[in-house]
Amino acid sequence: MGEIKKDMVEMKEAPEGYEGRGFFATKLDSVIGMARSNSLWPLPFATSCCGIEFMATASTNYDLARFGMERMSFSPRQADLLMVMGTIAKKMGPILKQVYDQMAEPKWVISVGACASSGGIFDTYSVLQGIDNVIPVDVYVPGCPPRPEQILEGVMKIQELAKSESLRRRNSDEYKRMLEGYNIEVSK
Ligand code: SF4
Repeated sequence: MGEIKKDMVEMKEAPEGYEGRGFFATKLDSVIGMARSNSLWPLPFATSCCGIEFMATASTNYDLARFGMERMSFSPRQADLLMVMGTIAKKMGPILKQVYDQMAEPKWVISVGACASSGGIFDTYSVLQGIDNVIPVDVYVPGCPPRPEQILEGVMKIQELAKSESLRRRNSDEYKRMLEGYNIEVSK
């Protein structure tokens, strides 16, 4: 491994708080939000061409690792960001829902590309016309396919969400009602 120089390490801004000689005080919510947003573990649910764009996003030129996201998870139980990329057949809907169900809270979902978001050009009997028919989506990335820059922007939107939402948002009545609308139980 090459030597890590000081200017290669990007320091993250501290959350809002009070600073004095030898101390810094802030809210637990802010610290946890900062940690969560800079260590998202994505589960790539890639079924077709948009998945190839994701591979480019994760590799050298675009380097998803800059966002603390280099640790891909192929197990839903160790992932908190579900990235759905590609055409989702109706038969796959229940499987996608099962994967989402198996992820622990807090969890977020990005729908990457026209197919995942709306069925795209495949307005046919066999293709799900948007994954939000079966699971809730936090960020939609448009395009057919979206460029890696767009996927990165989607990830940054999720970071903003993770940073700003309350620790307990997932326990809110509104969130529970939304999941109930999808016939999904809120995990503890
Ligand atoms: S949105 Fe376009 S590039 Fe992405 S999976 Fe669908 S057809 Fe392929």
